[in-house]
Amino acid sequence: MRTPSVVAILGSTLTGEFEDVKLMNELLTKKNKKTGWNTPTHVDAASRGFIAPFLYPDLEWYFRLPLVKSINVSGHKYGLVYPCVGWVVWRRKDDLPEELVFHINYLGSDQPTFTLNFSKGSSQIIAQFYQFIRLGTEVTIVLCLF
Ligand SMILES: *Cc1c(COP(=O)(O)O)cnc(C)c1O
Repeated sequence: MRTPSVVAILGSTLTGEFEDVKLMNELLTKKNKKTGWNTPTHVDAASRGFIAPFLYPDLEWYFRLPLVKSINVSGHKYGLVYPCVGWVVWRRKDDLPEELVFHINYLGSDQPTFTLNFSKGSSQIIAQFYQFIRLGTEVTIVLCLF
């Protein structure tokens, strides 16, 4: 059986320790070459994903590594946001499996959506965006509406 994905944790919840995502990428690249697989990596950056780029700007752990296809970050763990806000981003649109996207006929047109609930306000995203700007961070947010 083929491994569908390998998960690296960038910031253990208990200790904050980073797994070596770059080494994992190198080892998985060799394994893929040897077996003919095309196994990607997901980075669970829930607890340190918003800290790592500032504390360790040279650390290679995200889309710089070719096998990293998706990353999740828990915005709510950093404060100054609404409870529960979290993010998952994919490298390319094609990396989000189509079977996870719900197609809703809304007022006569197709509205593809990927969320845990269909109706979800954007206030959480906007509030976190506001905090980035307020704290002096330039941010570009690309909202992907399929
Ligand atoms: C907190 C945490 C999660 C869960 O994230 P939630 O946004 O709370 O659902 C997953 N993985 C790690 C490593 C975490 O620290």
